Amino acid sequence: DVTAPEPLDEVELAVEGALRPGTLAEFVGQHKVRGQLQLLLDAARIQQRPADHILLAGPPGLGKTTLAMIVAQESERPLRLSSGPAIQHAGDLAALLSSLTPGEVLFIDEIHRMARSAEEMLYLAMEDFRIDIMVGKGAGATSIPLDLAPFTLVGATTRSGMLPNPLRDRFGFTAHLEYYEPDELERVVERSASVLGVRLGEAQRVEIARRSRGTPRIANRLLRRVRDYALVHSGGTQPALADVQAALDLYDVDAIGLDRLDRAVLDALVRRFRGGPVGLSTLAVTVGEEPDTVESVVEPYLVRIGFMGRTPRGRIATPEAYAHVGVAHPDGALN
Ligand code: ADP
Repeated sequence: DVTAPEPLDEVELAVEGALRPGTLAEFVGQHKVRGQLQLLLDAARIQQRPADHILLAGPPGLGKTTLAMIVAQESERPLRLSSGPAIQHAGDLAALLSSLTPGEVLFIDEIHRMARSAEEMLYLAMEDFRIDIMVGKGAGATSIPLDLAPFTLVGATTRSGMLPNPLRDRFGFTAHLEYYEPDELERVVERSASVLGVRLGEAQRVEIARRSRGTPRIANRLLRRVRDYALVHSGGTQPALADVQAALDLYDVDAIGLDRLDRAVLDALVRRFRGGPVGLSTLAVTVGEEPDTVESVVEPYLVRIGFMGRTPRGRIATPEAYAHVGVAHPDGALN
């Protein structure tokens, strides 16, 4: 799926790597977060200590991994990459933490999916750079304290609400990443096009940015499909606006950048549930998707563009959503 906000495979990851900005100055948008991170890194540099732990929260593809890499780069520290699903036992985390070198930056993606037992170990590690390792079982079990090298934890999550408070409280700073504005996405596309050797006019950049769902990862991916399209159909590296439109239509990205799943959710909400309110799990079952995906990937964007509301009784469609789906709003007659 060309608009999936998640990276697809090794090849995609490698291309993504090539398109990653390497410094805070090159990182487009997120002005507030950039300023906050800069201060944190500068203070750590002056005091010659590892930076405070950082939590990066927001939908997939907005730059969390990229920022973690920049934190390591700018503080001239090595970076270790891991993820919540890879840490299924406290022992996995103990092995990881005890192998860190002084000042290392540890990135844990999807940190909300770490095992509970590991979470508890992490509290102590973050606070005191120390863990207790349990040895033996039952009455003979003892815990052996182990000192760790000081490190900076950078956690990323699409679901900051799912993190237990004690864990959230141990981060010195939480950055909430926002969807990007069209002009910011244009800059992402411009930069990536020059890395990929694609020549794009302004109209083409605007069109790609407008249809990227506020997400740099999607902007980069659409750009690569546009490049493919121009290569195959006009044998060049200079896509025309018609190439852009044809490529994006081919991959089912609609005029405002919604993908098939976004549209399926809207369609179910408007037609099947007559605008709601409907519960998340019912909605997810109807479109054949995991509730987690609907909640952390689809809904934030639909809410952001004013197509969906979340109420205590469930999800509701706005008049704008009706208009996009092409169904008359029930209150229409009153206007
Ligand atoms: P996340 O970890 O939040 O899912 P990533 O950091 O992996 O997102 O970013 C996905 C892709 O989007 C990367 O290729 C990265 O280069 C690009 N990207 C993300 N944010 C920016 C940005 N602010 N400026 C330029 N490129 C960005």
